[in-house]
Amino acid sequence: MSTIARSRIEQNLQDIREKIATACDRARRDVGEVHLVAVTKYVGLPEIRHLLELGLYDLGESRAQQLTRRAGELSEALDADGVELPRSVRWHMIGHLQRNKVKHVLEVTNIVHSVDSLRLAEELNSRAERSDQHVDVLLQVNCSQEEQKYGVAVGASVHLAEMITTLDRLRLVGLMTIAPLSDNPEEARPAFALLRELFEEIRHEKIGGESFRHLSMGMSQDYEAAVEEGATILRIGSALFA
Ligand SMILES: *Cc1c(COP(=O)(O)O)cnc(C)c1O
Repeated sequence: MSTIARSRIEQNLQDIREKIATACDRARRDVGEVHLVAVTKYVGLPEIRHLLELGLYDLGESRAQQLTRRAGELSEALDADGVELPRSVRWHMIGHLQRNKVKHVLEVTNIVHSVDSLRLAEELNSRAERSDQHVDVLLQVNCSQEEQKYGVAVGASVHLAEMITTLDRLRLVGLMTIAPLSDNPEEARPAFALLRELFEEIRHEKIGGESFRHLSMGMSQDYEAAVEEGATILRIGSALFA
């Protein structure tokens, strides 16, 4: 990767951090509450390694196969160079997950943002039991209603959240949504506000306890609105690499 591409990523990251900080100011939030997951689906290994150099250890992929391949390639490449994989590197599964891919995904990650059915949650739980691990999960809610295929319906989300907390290998750490794609971030805001409301409701019912504390919402087009509406995890890809 050229020096120019490197410094571009660095500059983009700085811009994003500044915008996050400004949005936090507007919303009177502590910037320390907002975490960034760098979505690597558009880039290759050199860019991913550069992210690590910049201190970004939370990496996201939306497709199971790519997630497992990437995670393997990254540790091999670092290994070949005699560099240790930083212990805090964490791959996040952020996209639709089919049950037959769960086993492989759990080999490289222990956080899944996209749980949207009881069947998927149960599969994660039984696979996690077999491999003796625990998995952090977020419930993906379809807050923009008819436009999306994935995510549990708003009306079913509280009940599903409660069911997930009965599975002892899973820890329900929050909610996730994808806002309708639009050039206008204001069109994303109602979906974020709705997720926040559901979050408050679930917390009010004491479902998930102390560990239920994350709102994974906000992407390159709409992360400032997401921060204003309470996001604690932003999933950002293209804005980092543009
Ligand atoms: C691709 C993707 C992102 C990042 O999208 P950008 O618009 O490139 O920031 C975030 N979340 C999910 C689920 C994705 O698939």
